[in-house]
Amino acid sequence: MTERPPLSTTETGAPAPSDAFSLSVGRNGPILLHDHHFIQQMAHFNRERVPERNVHAKGGGAFGFFETTEDVSQFTKAALFQPGVRTEVLVRFSTVAGEQGSADTVRDPRGFAIKFYTTQGNYDLVGNNTPIFFIRDPMKFPHFIRSQKRLPDIGVRDNNMQWDFWTLNPESAHQVTWLFGDRGTPRTWRHMNGYGSHTFMWANAAGEKFWIKYHFKTDQGIECFTDAEAKAMVAEDPDFHRRDLFTAISRGEYPSWTLYVQVMPYEDAPSYRFNPFDLTKVWPHGDYPLIKVGRLVLDRNPSNFFAEIEQAAFEPSNLVPGIGVSPDKMLLGRMFAYADTHRYRIGPNYNQLPVNQPKVPVHTYTFDGPMRYHHSGNQPVYSPNSFGGPVADEQLGEDLTWAVSGDMVRAAAELHPEDDDFGQAGTLVREVMDDAARSRLAENVIGSLRNGVTSPVLERALEYWRNIDKELGDTIAKGVTGL
Ligand code: NDP
Repeated sequence: MTERPPLSTTETGAPAPSDAFSLSVGRNGPILLHDHHFIQQMAHFNRERVPERNVHAKGGGAFGFFETTEDVSQFTKAALFQPGVRTEVLVRFSTVAGEQGSADTVRDPRGFAIKFYTTQGNYDLVGNNTPIFFIRDPMKFPHFIRSQKRLPDIGVRDNNMQWDFWTLNPESAHQVTWLFGDRGTPRTWRHMNGYGSHTFMWANAAGEKFWIKYHFKTDQGIECFTDAEAKAMVAEDPDFHRRDLFTAISRGEYPSWTLYVQVMPYEDAPSYRFNPFDLTKVWPHGDYPLIKVGRLVLDRNPSNFFAEIEQAAFEPSNLVPGIGVSPDKMLLGRMFAYADTHRYRIGPNYNQLPVNQPKVPVHTYTFDGPMRYHHSGNQPVYSPNSFGGPVADEQLGEDLTWAVSGDMVRAAAELHPEDDDFGQAGTLVREVMDDAARSRLAENVIGSLRNGVTSPVLERALEYWRNIDKELGDTIAKGVTGL
């Protein structure tokens, strides 16, 4: 015998009068404003969405754990990275440009955001599946994103706008090359790597500082769709990646990644051949090899998408002792942007929602505001005070710092000996890709340039590719113009 479902109620728990009929005057008559149950259902329905994320709107995620399997305590004192420590995590994957209902398999970088619920508070690593990005100054970020979204009049996406931005900002070349290669269309979220992308600071218990980069390498192996397969899947199942992760975890196939870091001694930064804080550059592995740290495993699906994924709030500003930021201007810009967007999107008390709440006690001097849920009783509302309010331990709540001096300017960072916009993109084309991968890259670019890209953007795009690699640029030019 099946169990009877519970009786439906109003929001305040009284029995619902009906879920099928509004109250009317006679069977054919007008409906009545005092039908509170109907009004409550409609009014709440009208408010059941929060604004979607302006970037990374379409995504999915799962819970799991991170286990530090190696000893990296010589580089960081962060509790979560001490040997043997296991930390609960939430990971959210996403596309960048599309809206909530957009297809999962389009060519786009993928977000790879991790929230570690550590014993020292939440640590968020809000990364991507690429080690680099299109721009190196956050001033350009809103412009970049709008160029990837929709035209102001007709409201459609536009290749001409995308290539216009990219070619007018040649620092995009490395990321654009990566994007039009095989890894721009990952087969699933399980079959791609994650990268912290930025350079971060680590500090050990003795106070020694290091610059580091995070690499999460998929244990499932890299697998990518071809351009044609990715496009076919857009039509067949726009939610393919979301569905794949959920069903894999339901089957007990828990995806995992091995975390490695590259560690640069603090004093190397000024004289390194590339600007180590430039988000359009990698640190070649030959210069700074990968050092193993531990394992990330996803083994639990969300029980409610809205509560646990849509309302999840990741922010690079969630740091813990032993981990800091770096002079990467993009990272510094993101320190502001994420918390700001959550306050707008979810509300100022977003950190009190269960998915965002840390697993440690919170004794903050922020108070009240809309939808405040946990209250601080009669805790004093100012500091310092004589009545037992929380007191900061300034040793623990350190800001990891570096020395700076100079006049205030609006200018690009000083160049390191091998800094340019095209070099590392050329290395990717010539030294990492084989002939078949290069030819798929050329085909993918040709397909995009032949789809609505017009003069003068088209000529600039051909020049851009010749600057990345002369031979590849010539192949693309031939494919686009037939010359
Ligand atoms: P390595 O040969 O040591 O590393 C090359 C890297 O490229 C590997 O991490 C590999 O990832 C990745 N890779 C392989 N195929 C592709 C592809 N189609 N698209 C993007 N990445 C791919 O060389 P270097 O460290 O000297 O770097 C050379 C170039 O490799 C860089 O200019 C950069 O473009 C690219 N790269 C470098 C990374 C780094 O952090 N150093 C990271 C990713 C790319 P995997 O091991 O998973 O197969």
